Amino acid sequence: MKYKLSSFNYVLCCDDGSLRLYNSMYGANSLIAVDPGVRDEILSVLNGTAPIDGIPEYIKKELIKSGYIVPIDRDENYALKIKNIKTIMNEKYLQLVIMPTEQCNFRCRYCYETFEKPKMSISIQNAIIKYVQKNISNYMGLSVSWFGGEPLMALDVIEYLSENFLRICKAAKRVYMSGITTNGYDLTADIFKQLYKFKILSYQITLDGYRSQHDNQRILADGSGTFDRIVNNLIEIVIVVQMASVNNSEMLFGVFITA
Ligand code: SF4
Repeated sequence: MKYKLSSFNYVLCCDDGSLRLYNSMYGANSLIAVDPGVRDEILSVLNGTAPIDGIPEYIKKELIKSGYIVPIDRDENYALKIKNIKTIMNEKYLQLVIMPTEQCNFRCRYCYETFEKPKMSISIQNAIIKYVQKNISNYMGLSVSWFGGEPLMALDVIEYLSENFLRICKAAKRVYMSGITTNGYDLTADIFKQLYKFKILSYQITLDGYRSQHDNQRILADGSGTFDRIVNNLIEIVIVVQMASVNNSEMLFGVFITA
């Protein structure tokens, strides 16, 4: 593999002849104190006057591990943007991925679920609410992703938890955001409007290609196809959004179509 120097390298030459290296992309984990014995060798690589491939393999490995040299095709600016977004989200928002049920009305041919666990019990729901209540003040907000199984098969769990999350965030003056991964089969316009009230604004729905391909893969438990109903639901939702029953500027739809 070919490598290049990172744009985020900082080198400090110390009075005792040693070097201190820092890479601002990797942060504190990148800090290296370089012994005077290999100082010139490393300095000439990092200032671009010697080729990267000219240094001993063990030094090269260390510089790769700490981010001073990176694969030649890495777009570091893009990587930095992603890192910043992740940092903001990780540090500032309490993020929960909640499976209201492991049950599903589909039996996709490639599914890895066992469908063993039923709907989330009320005691677990209350424990989650208690946890959010206790910790929300440490964050800027709460971000919830509904996942499954098929989460819409436990709509009452989504409703109960959402009502409480909204109440807690409002009282604590914190942001609340939420999204759902659903197979879309039960996502009628009415359910969509209900979910909108619970601030579920981001949707991930999968279509496995055109009707024939999709209906061969993403089938109901009785083996029948699901394409038409999902697409009809989506069309009805588009009409709801266009009629401005909801504020479409805050909606985010991702319909994943796999070939
Ligand atoms: S929609 Fe398909 S892949 Fe997803 S949980 Fe149900 S059966 Fe599995």
